[in-house]
Amino acid sequence: MARELISTAPGFDGAFAALLETQREAASAVDQTVAEIIADVRARGDAALIELTARFDRFTPESPEDLRIGPDEIAAAAERCDPALIDALKLAAQRIRAYHEAQKPADFETTDADGVRAGMRWRPVSAAGLYVPGGTAAYPSSVLMNALPAKVAGVGRLVMVVPTPDRVLNPLVLAAAHLAGVDEAYRIGGAQAVAALAHGTQTIAPVDKIVGPGNAYVATAKRQVFGTVGIDMIAGPSEILIVADGDNDPAWLAADLLSQAEHDAAAQAILITDDPLLARRVAQAVDSLLKTLPRADIATRSWQANGAIIVVEDLYDEAPALVDRIAPEHLELAVDDPDRLADKVNHAGAIFLGRFTPEAVGDYVGGPNHVLPTARSARFSSGLGVLDFMKRTSLLGCDADSLRRIGPAALALAGAEGLHAHGLSVGLRLNMPVPGMPAA
Ligand code: NAD
Repeated sequence: MARELISTAPGFDGAFAALLETQREAASAVDQTVAEIIADVRARGDAALIELTARFDRFTPESPEDLRIGPDEIAAAAERCDPALIDALKLAAQRIRAYHEAQKPADFETTDADGVRAGMRWRPVSAAGLYVPGGTAAYPSSVLMNALPAKVAGVGRLVMVVPTPDRVLNPLVLAAAHLAGVDEAYRIGGAQAVAALAHGTQTIAPVDKIVGPGNAYVATAKRQVFGTVGIDMIAGPSEILIVADGDNDPAWLAADLLSQAEHDAAAQAILITDDPLLARRVAQAVDSLLKTLPRADIATRSWQANGAIIVVEDLYDEAPALVDRIAPEHLELAVDDPDRLADKVNHAGAIFLGRFTPEAVGDYVGGPNHVLPTARSARFSSGLGVLDFMKRTSLLGCDADSLRRIGPAALALAGAEGLHAHGLSVGLRLNMPVPGMPAA
């Protein structure tokens, strides 16, 4: 049974704070192992990749060239898939692409009152690496969600890495890679794949940014190569928070809660409602659904350890503040006026508006990205998007007149900072002395 909290009950604040503070992910001590793997790949390149793949993924690539998943193999994968699934992937790809096209930023340039031109322009990173987890799960939807924003951003070279334990790979993952326009793919995983993407090997040219989820070895490796390359984020276990009034089908809400709980025993599913009867019925519906779900073991552990049902007096008045403190990855608003509630919420990775927008539709075909901030990081960060594959360059242009207008202030500040070459570079152009600089 999940925790039950009532906002008017004594001790609610403490119980709510305890819910927020629950440590859901066990800290794993993999730093040293990962550092050794990265050092090995840097020192020995492909030879290290082949050995580590044999050790962790239980097959030995025959040669460095065999690390590569060839373009023919990628292009042919769709033929091994159910055509209905390929159609579903195509719909998802089309919708995700269209949504991300709308995110493309605009450059700007202005000329201000001093006659100074100032602007900003956006350019894509040249090469990006996409980690696709393959150890225990294969998610073609994640391939689309990570690859398409990169392609929309204009990334020239998109490289996918995916471990293939026992050399087995779900063809739907390759079909998704093909649809999304992945340029190169390699059958490697774990920290060694991240190291190869960051530092390069004889076969794999390095990239500039690495994105994609993975286990503790992958996440730690991303942390360790950050600085050499950019990374997207370190994704934690999934979360869903549902705000629901009494006018909901408990079975729908139970399915929505468990749609995240079934990801991971460390996932978190929370319901906030103003209807105690609905609260009871959802709890019952969760229990009965848990009897039939194939992933009931994982979902039950998540629901019992991290799940919660919170009953408040007034949904529109009380829920937004609670939502902001939780800052959930996914927020479902199953109420009459979801827009009114959404307006009052500041911190959520993604909001799903109304009773007919289950979070799961957003996982696959909605259009917005499903790679979202977890563990309350929606307070300061956002889901994956086109901007993650782009960077800004500022532009500044003076002519003789505008430099004469603003230059003296720069000269004064350079003098005050004791940076006389700075001062000279302005002063020589204006034929002015640098304050405080000894005469030559
Ligand atoms: P994975 O691809 O992340 O990891 C497999 C690799 O881990 C192996 O190839 C191996 O190199 C490395 N590894 C395993 N044991 C090791 C050891 N003892 N020492 C060194 N390296 C070792 O696949 P996974 O393990 O199935 O994990 C997938 C993860 O990705 C899960 O945590 C899952 O929750 C997460 N995931 C998240 C999303 C999302 O969108 N948030 C999607 C899919 C998967």
